[in-house]
Amino acid sequence: MRDLLKTYFGYDAFRPLQEEIIEGVLGKQDTLVIMPTGGGKSLCYQLPALRLDGLTLVISPLIALMKDQVDGLRTNGVPAEFINGSLTYAEISRVQAQAQSGALKILYLAPERLALADFRSFLGTLKVSLVAVDEAHCISEWGHDFRPDYRTLGNLRQSLPDVPFIALTATATNRVRGDIVTQLGLNRPKQFIASFDRPNLQYEVRPKRRAYEQLVRLLRERRGESAIIYCLSRKDTEELSDRLGDEGFQALPYHAGMDAGTRRLNQERFIRDEANIIAATIAFGMGIDKPDVRLVVHQELPKSLEAYYQQTGRAGRDGLPSDCVMFYSYGDKIKQDFFIDQIEDRKEKQNAQRKLDQVIEYCQLQTCRRQYLLNYFGDDSIVGGGDGEPHDCGGCDVCLAEREDFDATIIAQKILSAVIRTGERFGAGHIAQVLRGSKAERVLRLGHDKLSVYDIVDDLSDNDIRDISRLLVDRGFLYQNSEEYATLGVTEAGRTMLKERERLILARPRRSEIEVEEAVGRRRSTLEFDHGLFEKLRSLRRGIASSDGVPPYVVFGDATLQQMAHFFPQNLNSLSRISGVGAVKLNRYGDEFLAVICEYAREKGLEDRTEFSMNSRSAISGERRSGERTTTYEKTNALIQQGYSIEQASQERDLSVNTIVAHIEMLVQRGDALDLRPLLPKDDRVERIQNAFDEVGYTRLAPVKELLGEGFSYEEIRLVRAYVSQRTREISANGDK
Ligand code: ADP
Ligand code: ZN
Repeated sequence: MRDLLKTYFGYDAFRPLQEEIIEGVLGKQDTLVIMPTGGGKSLCYQLPALRLDGLTLVISPLIALMKDQVDGLRTNGVPAEFINGSLTYAEISRVQAQAQSGALKILYLAPERLALADFRSFLGTLKVSLVAVDEAHCISEWGHDFRPDYRTLGNLRQSLPDVPFIALTATATNRVRGDIVTQLGLNRPKQFIASFDRPNLQYEVRPKRRAYEQLVRLLRERRGESAIIYCLSRKDTEELSDRLGDEGFQALPYHAGMDAGTRRLNQERFIRDEANIIAATIAFGMGIDKPDVRLVVHQELPKSLEAYYQQTGRAGRDGLPSDCVMFYSYGDKIKQDFFIDQIEDRKEKQNAQRKLDQVIEYCQLQTCRRQYLLNYFGDDSIVGGGDGEPHDCGGCDVCLAEREDFDATIIAQKILSAVIRTGERFGAGHIAQVLRGSKAERVLRLGHDKLSVYDIVDDLSDNDIRDISRLLVDRGFLYQNSEEYATLGVTEAGRTMLKERERLILARPRRSEIEVEEAVGRRRSTLEFDHGLFEKLRSLRRGIASSDGVPPYVVFGDATLQQMAHFFPQNLNSLSRISGVGAVKLNRYGDEFLAVICEYAREKGLEDRTEFSMNSRSAISGERRSGERTTTYEKTNALIQQGYSIEQASQERDLSVNTIVAHIEMLVQRGDALDLRPLLPKDDRVERIQNAFDEVGYTRLAPVKELLGEGFSYEEIRLVRAYVSQRTREISANGDK
């Protein structure tokens, strides 16, 4: 599996849970995967697809993404295609023929296809070895994105009883999870639920003062990096992008009221790095998969924490440090309240109000924002410091701010007493009202104005009391039921403190924006890299991407370019060790990237640091590299040298023929003197293949295959190409002498 991971995806280590999930799938287990955006769900079915005989079907509702996903797979050497309404009839027939011939490993499908009788009989002719259902929450009416077409998947399941199904989603409550299992008819599925923490994202809430100037500053610090700015109205997105445009930024608007053509064009330009800022309404995001968004800004309050988590989740999918900044003012709350008041349905209105209140609470936190978000989603993988230190995630403005201590002994006792006296059935808002002697209808109706704790605080605001309650939760004196209404209860530690009248010092962030900004600045960038070289590599990437007609991240991700700009690999061997550089990409892009790195290194007198540093650890993951992992190519090499044919090597190593050929390409590419002649087809075939390459160029395989017609395999075409490139290099080397 590691061989496949490196060869096809270029990665050295699995992300959390990926390996277990893949093992289960290969063992024909039905599987349900809940993993946050950016967690690496795709690999959980893409890698098994390579390993299994036959075809993997991927059902996805995101038609706009299919082409990019397929392009990404193909640049990695994985034979993949898609079928959806954007293809012509002829194109669909071509893909169907390919699927039937066994040439494809992965086929992406839009769910509505499955309702067509013709299409189902076509499916019946295929050897399907795995079905992946992406965005699986779409099958449930309880989810936020129900797609009736998904219901037909139950039938697909019944018609393929022995094929394992893997369902994947980033959002699913318990109820939706259960629904996925029943509706899909999963058979005793293994369930994997990843932590919802996104450790590379930094959360920050800023007071909305001179917000535009603050925004410009944020964008200046990240010049050239991709950013999404969420605005409230269509008009706002246009005004903001114009204004930023005047300022010299490349910003585009995006909202549901634009004509479809312009909207698609703007999205496309953003994905292709032609414009790096998009000012959008919440309509933006579903159809994009851009992994290198470095900043998500909320100019206005999101409607709920679910929406906030999802929108900020679009930052940093590639795992590199990225920022989520929300501008907040109390005025925004009033604006939103006004909208909510317009809602007619009482139930709906209440619900909207409650969701908004939670967002406000998040904005006003004095404790870790990450912890609050995670607890909200029922993920208690990071918990409060209990009786000890408060939680410090090191990645939100609250945790990064300098703190000041204050004596909370008396107020803490008042709060704890009020919680107990009211029967541990109310939230912090109500407790604050009681303590401050509110005449609110509910307080009076419950008779809480008769309690001894009524009206005993007059030097603090409701907000102050809520803040302190949260600090008490964080320190483990109070606990919060994460049920629908967050009611407070007193813990054992809380009771003890109350009884013994212990002195309590709490710390709250000292609110100074400058300090926070400095702390935030210090934390960015985990890997030191040469920014000059990084920029050069990015521009090379942009050029290649535009001539190949794919998004830049499909060529190489930012993390890969940063490693190049850190390790300065100066030969193909070193380059092959960079995370994200697989065999096919090495072959296809290696020379061009090396040329840029070598020239830069020569100018600046930089040495190749790959060997030296990577022997002990892999670059970003910090994971240890065992000798064995780097020799997957050598193992293949040894077999070929001993006279094994490609099929024999494939059997011996339990890898596909495709993979063995990829190894050979990579060995040739990095300059190993491998004798390819015994592996080539007959001379006349070699000649015909070579002629075809001469005619249409050596970069793409598909046109060559097309020219040659049936009867030629991709493997032999690739071998001939490797052979020719070896010969060409020999000739030019001799010429140099
Ligand atoms: P999801 O579908 O869960 O949102 P993706 O499958 O799109 O996530 O993966 C997010 C990013 O992480 C992609 O850029 C992908 O290439 C990268 N990635 C996935 N698995 C690994 C891994 N094992 N090592 C390094 N990067 C990975
Ligand atoms: Zn924090």
